[in-house]
Amino acid sequence: AKYRLDNAICAFSDELKRHSEERYKLEESLRRAIENGELEVYLQPIIDLKANRVVKCEALARWQHADGEFISPEVFIPVAEQTGLIIPFGNWLIDEVCKILQRFKQQAVDVRVAINVSARQVSDQDTIDYIISSIESYQVNPKQLSVELTESVLVHSYESVSALLVKLRQLGVIVSIDDFGTGFSSLSYLKHLSIDELKVDKSFIQDVGINNNEDSAIVLAILGLAKSLNLQVIAEGVETADQHQFLIDNNCDCAQGFLYSKPMTVAAFSSWYKDYAS
Ligand code: C2E
Ligand code: CA
Ligand code: CA
Ligand code: CA
Repeated sequence: AKYRLDNAICAFSDELKRHSEERYKLEESLRRAIENGELEVYLQPIIDLKANRVVKCEALARWQHADGEFISPEVFIPVAEQTGLIIPFGNWLIDEVCKILQRFKQQAVDVRVAINVSARQVSDQDTIDYIISSIESYQVNPKQLSVELTESVLVHSYESVSALLVKLRQLGVIVSIDDFGTGFSSLSYLKHLSIDELKVDKSFIQDVGINNNEDSAIVLAILGLAKSLNLQVIAEGVETADQHQFLIDNNCDCAQGFLYSKPMTVAAFSSWYKDYAS
């Protein structure tokens, strides 16, 4: 038995070593990717369901590795968070998005752009200063910028979040709760924090409109809650005409998902914007 255990421990530590080597490689190449501009901002449109217009979009990072392969943000964002690279990455993103907003103003593309902000960025005192200085350098209207925070970020760093949200509110930057309903958190933060908008997670949208099911009930409850708290609602992950119709019928404000468009390059977004509903 001792022998088997030793073998198992050996195999386990080999696995661990291989794993940490891969992580290290990923960390190194992400560091270089940020320096060499291998990262790009894609935009996914958000539709105002009443006006049937594109009013907002979400910035989603794309990393095309030097060998041509795309690395998913689901892979590299967690590595960036764990290694602290999320700070230079996040600053790069804030800068890019402000540049995009400056260009959009010249092109008469009138949309708000949302950025995803992670826990580490929230705890970093410099983040707000970086946002302020980018807004100033590119002469961005702060109302054209929004910040998406998940519930887990809120609970994790409640003190720093509330400080950041007060400053964002003073600036005029919009604050959204991302993946709403998946965070296992209490709703009391809705009372105490300056929040403008809820993004209903796509897992709740999947089955709405098909028949009377739990998901429809949950989405209706969120819409009711948001209405009485005066919050806007964006439904995420809308893929079908049935889901779209359900959201319209129940007065959801906005929707985002593959039904309208996948995330696309900034250039593709501009022309898509001009074609939409025209
Ligand atoms: P998220 O913030 O919840 O972003 C929405 C994700 O859902 C995006 O995946 C988007 O492509 C995908 N999506 C949009 N519409 C649909 C749909 O109709 N159906 C389905 N199945 N999926 C849809 P993506 O771009 O792979 O990003 C994954 C996650 O990575 C994001 O989830 C976000 O948490 C993180 N992420 C992406 N870019 C950034 C970034 O620049 N900064 C930070 N901190 N996180 C980012
Ligand atoms: Ca998001
Ligand atoms: Ca989301
Ligand atoms: Ca998510």
